[in-house]
Amino acid sequence: MSIRRKQVVYVGLDDYNALNKSELSFSKGDRLKILKPPKDDDKWWSAQNLNTKKKGYVPADLIAIEGALELNDWCHGAISRNGAQYLLKEHNVDGMYLVRESQSQPGQVRARLLRERHTHTHTHTHTHTHTHTHTHTHTHTIPPTHTHTPHDRQAHAKTIVVGMDLDKKWELKRDDIKLMDMLGGGNYGEVFKAKFNKQIVAVKTIKEESMETVEFMKEAHVMKKLRHPNLVKLIGVCSLSLPMYIVQEYVPHGDLLSFLRRPNARSTIDETAQLYMSFQIADGMSCLEAQNTIHRDLAARNCLVGDNLVIKIADFGMGRVVDDLYTARTGTKMPIKWTSPEALCYDAFSTKSDVWSFGVVLWEISTFGDVPYPDMEARDVIHKLEEGYRMPAPRGCPAGLYDVMSDCWHMNAKERPTFEQLKLRLEELHNAQKGEDGGDGLHEAAPAANTVWREQFESKDKKKDEAKKQKTEEALDLTKQVFSGAQHIYRYANEQTVAQLVSDLNPLCQRLVALLKAAKILDKSQLKALASAVKDLAKAKTKLEKVKTACEKLRDVARTVNRSLKKSLAP
Ligand code: ADP
Repeated sequence: MSIRRKQVVYVGLDDYNALNKSELSFSKGDRLKILKPPKDDDKWWSAQNLNTKKKGYVPADLIAIEGALELNDWCHGAISRNGAQYLLKEHNVDGMYLVRESQSQPGQVRARLLRERHTHTHTHTHTHTHTHTHTHTHTHTIPPTHTHTPHDRQAHAKTIVVGMDLDKKWELKRDDIKLMDMLGGGNYGEVFKAKFNKQIVAVKTIKEESMETVEFMKEAHVMKKLRHPNLVKLIGVCSLSLPMYIVQEYVPHGDLLSFLRRPNARSTIDETAQLYMSFQIADGMSCLEAQNTIHRDLAARNCLVGDNLVIKIADFGMGRVVDDLYTARTGTKMPIKWTSPEALCYDAFSTKSDVWSFGVVLWEISTFGDVPYPDMEARDVIHKLEEGYRMPAPRGCPAGLYDVMSDCWHMNAKERPTFEQLKLRLEELHNAQKGEDGGDGLHEAAPAANTVWREQFESKDKKKDEAKKQKTEEALDLTKQVFSGAQHIYRYANEQTVAQLVSDLNPLCQRLVALLKAAKILDKSQLKALASAVKDLAKAKTKLEKVKTACEKLRDVARTVNRSLKKSLAP
């Protein structure tokens, strides 16, 4: 999705009188449009005063994004509605995302930062040698925006990159990685399928040394700590030179959203499968929960689908160590329709805001990938939610599952269930459903639900494989009979025997063709050749010469088919 950026309007924080012609005067509260995206260190920004229409340079320290003052207020505990209005009206809302402008506000943030630093003695515990282990005692009243200066940030960036270098265990040799097809364009760079020591892997790349390098490596770092069958596994990194790589396990069936939207999804994904996928996401998320890691962008598009309907949550590295100056600067898109009200308004991201998003993911799974709040603009959603509106139960969604979703959307974050509880509830729904289906597993041992489910899905596939194998074996046997029957006619048939021999052979041929067609074992051209030989034989009736010609052809085709079937049975 391409994201259009809307101009952010600034306001004067104080009166300013121009000292020369190139400068621009403004009064406190005047609205200013920034004409050129300023660079990181620019202290003077080219602007137009929207009140006087005059243009010139303004000191970056004396202006702020319009609404930022209210932002300050409600960060100290005022009403969320203001916050929502600020975020949604004054920032860049484009369809689904709240886009935080990347280039145009660093100076302003810095100005406020410096001011704030004098007033707050409280800062994060911030160890530069172990940049990855920040301790955050972040409360709603002290937004993280106020605790880092640009200087902090640079030190921070450097340490992370150097830190990776020390992390020998995860560093891979670049030469061992052979990039193959491109899988998609990620936020930072391209994602490739690749070969690493004969193993197929996915490689996320980043092109330039940039602020994003840090984000990128944070993603890798978070991944190192988290090992779970429902979280995409990290294999290693190449961080010593550019482009940097994050090497992950390859998950073959793409993202869950596209998977749900496939044309045959409704006919192939039943309620059990939906519950199974949901359960796995809760399971993976409960691992993040246990490690106090926040995902921040849980959505079907960020889950990947593996074999046997295994779900792997991806992009959980974006559960960045709460550092919002970062987001403010790098221009992050915020998925409004997935984000909890308190996260949208106060930036209060937590495991409970992930639970809110999980509710939306359940809704996505139940609707086979609809866009949440289908008839609503993203900007209207937050107000509706504050008025108590919630999405209704999707069509065909079992009541029990809708209850689970609804609980995830409790306005009070504390009232929302934990992922651990969500796991149990989904499992109960699964068991209840099996009971209704007349299944035998109503009171199955609960703890191993993931394994039980997994086995069930694996065995479904195994059964399919088994059935195919049986059909292939039967077809193989028939090719032998057809071959020897045709061979016999070709060599020995005479006017007396031909009618009987052909009527013996014909049904075998029909059966073989039918079997191969139904089982889709054979490639089309071979099937066509076989069908045509069988047809020729039928047409030849009992005319000896024609029968012999048809049988010669049939014999050869039967031999070829026999060989292909044998090959397909070989392990
Ligand atoms: P970003 O989060 O940086 O935007 P993504 O992680 O969403 O990047 O990756 C972009 C696309 O690449 C995904 O939609 C998916 O199709 C593919 N992809 C990403 N990671 C993997 C993986 N581990 N295995 C297979 N495909 C992947």
